[in-house]
Amino acid sequence: MAEDVLQMPLQYLKGVGPRKAADLKKAGLNSVEDLLFRFPRRYEDRSRLQTIISLKPGQTAAISGVVLNAGLAHTRRPGFRLFNALIQDDSGQVQAVWPNQAFLKDVIRSQQRIVLFGKVEMWGSRGLQITDPEFEIIKDDSERETDATLHTGRIVPVYERTGSVTPNMQRRFVWQALEQLSAEPYDPIPHDILVREHWPARREALQQAHFPGAETPVDTLNAFATPAQRRLIFEDFFVFQSGLALRRHENAQVRKALICTVDDRIRESARAILPFKLTAGQRGALAEVVADMQKPWPMQRLLQGDVGSGKTIVAILAAVVAMDNGFQVAVMAPTEILAEQHYRTLVKVLDGRPYRTALLTGRVTAATRRDLLPAIARGEINLVVGTQALVQEHVTFKSLALTVIDEQHRFGVVQRGTIAAKGLHPDVLVMTATPIPRTLALTECGDMEVSVIRGLPPGRQPVTTLVKADSRRDEVYALVRSEVAQGRQAYVIYPLVDESEKVDLKAATAMAEQLATVFPEFTVGLLHGRMKGDEKERVMHAFLRGDVHVLVSTTVVEVGVDVPNATLMVVEHAERFGLSQLHQLRGRIGRGAHRSTCVLLYQAPWSDEARERLRAMADTSDGFVIAERDLQLRGPGDFFGTRQSGLPTLRAGDLTRDVDLLEMAFEEARARIESGQLSATQLDYVRSVWQRQFGLITVG
Ligand code: ADP
Ligand code: MG
Repeated sequence: MAEDVLQMPLQYLKGVGPRKAADLKKAGLNSVEDLLFRFPRRYEDRSRLQTIISLKPGQTAAISGVVLNAGLAHTRRPGFRLFNALIQDDSGQVQAVWPNQAFLKDVIRSQQRIVLFGKVEMWGSRGLQITDPEFEIIKDDSERETDATLHTGRIVPVYERTGSVTPNMQRRFVWQALEQLSAEPYDPIPHDILVREHWPARREALQQAHFPGAETPVDTLNAFATPAQRRLIFEDFFVFQSGLALRRHENAQVRKALICTVDDRIRESARAILPFKLTAGQRGALAEVVADMQKPWPMQRLLQGDVGSGKTIVAILAAVVAMDNGFQVAVMAPTEILAEQHYRTLVKVLDGRPYRTALLTGRVTAATRRDLLPAIARGEINLVVGTQALVQEHVTFKSLALTVIDEQHRFGVVQRGTIAAKGLHPDVLVMTATPIPRTLALTECGDMEVSVIRGLPPGRQPVTTLVKADSRRDEVYALVRSEVAQGRQAYVIYPLVDESEKVDLKAATAMAEQLATVFPEFTVGLLHGRMKGDEKERVMHAFLRGDVHVLVSTTVVEVGVDVPNATLMVVEHAERFGLSQLHQLRGRIGRGAHRSTCVLLYQAPWSDEARERLRAMADTSDGFVIAERDLQLRGPGDFFGTRQSGLPTLRAGDLTRDVDLLEMAFEEARARIESGQLSATQLDYVRSVWQRQFGLITVG
């Protein structure tokens, strides 16, 4: 069967030994299908053969001829050897030269027919030579006629080198794989879409994407915009989106046990806790959330809003609705500091209300926890705040109606599977502080509904961002001094890179000590991820109270910390941070009534990309614009900081280039799944791909 060939491990291809198979695996290529869905990096037109007499220096040309003589030449440089071959066609002769490839003496021999593709250069006074060309030995004329030339005489795919696998080898492997593929492998794209888009069938598309016909415009190929290429990109997107749509659809079939209702009493109860007037964005998001909570199937909603846009109050109001219905709520945060901050906010906002709340973090004593867990199980506690791991793994609820997950920027399709796996079906509201570019939202969250809070609460002062060389540190210290003298506070952020955590920690500690001597009149605090929880808490509290003026911190402060009096942030080694991370950090200031400044200190030499990043930070404070730039600069795999390996969407497609195909795949997949238009075979196929990609995580 065709799928058998596609799923065949690559070591079954001729020429792929264990070593090459391992190298290919490292690059994410396990099966024949993986190989065929890895497009060439670019295409070169080597189809027009030139006569030797017409060659000109500087050209890149393809020629065909006979080898007159060939052999190794020694050069004056010890150990350096040239392989030479004199090639002749009907018009003349030219020398071909391969530096340091002695093994060619066993490959290229006199009297062979050969096709060459390479750069034409002047060779001293002796005429022209072709340097280090790609070549193909033509075994006999019949083989030429069967079009079995791969490396020359055609539009040639040029692959990325993967370890020991050269671009030429990969070309051979792809060719071999295509030859073994049956004429009509199973096609996951519905036929009517192929007809409507004028796209080729699967086998033809794979052939054309790797070995395009001579008439294919090379520019279109290199823009990855031929019908064959677009069809394959769409296929990837469509299968993945079908999985997401299936998950969403089947979620909507689950009847939840707890359905919230909203009446005037509850509306009034929610209104009464409001510390301020909601923005239009907050009102819109809240309306969407509460509408979902009243429906009989579990909500799966992503609440997107820039840092400081006010997501917390929306979640609290949703919690009030659930609690006033007599149900329980879980609020989960990625870190203990954040869980504690959420808890403090909740206690403040819900002050005087009858709800019973509890904080559940690693720091809660065993004795307290022994009391808490049964109380939660009996339904006596209305709301539990904790770190995600703790709540998910250890807590049983009596009547959990709403789970709020404050994932900040760490979330993804795969992790969310685990909540459903516990057999709970509460409404789920995921909050993210990273504005997600639409394309990524479609891939990562295509199974969820999305609410977006645009804009910030009124009265915010825009943050001024300055990019400065490390050598101008004195100016920055002067700025710190003047801000603190006016009663404000400052963050100094130090990067923490995994590989050298200890070293960096030392640097952050040294920085705190140094700043304490630079500012003897101020109190300098230090916060980092290796501190014990209560120690962290103590420092954070001192900063919150204003007892610490300058807080030297690693990125632990990045996630959601709220100190409105802090108006200055200095980021050390800003060139090491990603754009979205810098945006998150900067979101810690500009939260109060005072003007704020963010100084990005960089240490030369810095890369062009780093320069781009810092410039983007200075140019805009719109998180959505920054997210788009970040996606362009870093690519989708790195967007969330960790590489999401193996997303099938990202095999052939490119989330910045192929936006239209992704949108179309999203729409088509949702519509077809919702209306039951995909056949059992098609659904099985989608499930099997998801199974392969995500292992245990089930779709539907
Ligand atoms: P984020 O979306 O980053 O989680 P928060 O919910 O922490 O933002 O809100 C940021 C700050 O803005 C908080 O101090 C909060 O009290 C305040 N805030 C939120 N909504 C409003 C509003 N509508 N009017 C005034 N202040 C608001
Ligand atoms: Mg927040």
